[in-house]
Amino acid sequence: MQKIEHIGIAVKNLAVAVPLFEKLLNTNCYKTEEVKSEKVNTAFFKQGETKIELLESTDPDGVIARFIQKKGEGMHHIAFDVMNIEAEMERLKKEGFVLLNETPKQGADNKLVCFLHPKDTNGVLIELCMEKPDF
Ligand code: ZN
Repeated sequence: MQKIEHIGIAVKNLAVAVPLFEKLLNTNCYKTEEVKSEKVNTAFFKQGETKIELLESTDPDGVIARFIQKKGEGMHHIAFDVMNIEAEMERLKKEGFVLLNETPKQGADNKLVCFLHPKDTNGVLIELCMEKPDF
């Protein structure tokens, strides 16, 4: 695993959270993107080498909506950059971690992603992400 690629924060309302983070970080949101498969709208900020990903649910039954219902708004996941996502998934599976998806899936920001079950990682949801190769 490489650097922390981004930190995901669950928010109720991007229209409120984006200007707030623009003030906080003193930088403009550089990208917003809907990820239909995950039922989220995302907004990204660059802060040095690391990004902040704000996540707003597009569905009252979506994972982010359920997360906020249970825990309130706040930190949702930490994403690490990986060079080879399949190899890293294989390695972690051998180490006994439970992967939430068996094959890499399409994430926001042109990434292939995989999540680890937080029960194995002290309650912290971990995301592996790899820049999608250009074909
Ligand atoms: Zn993420």
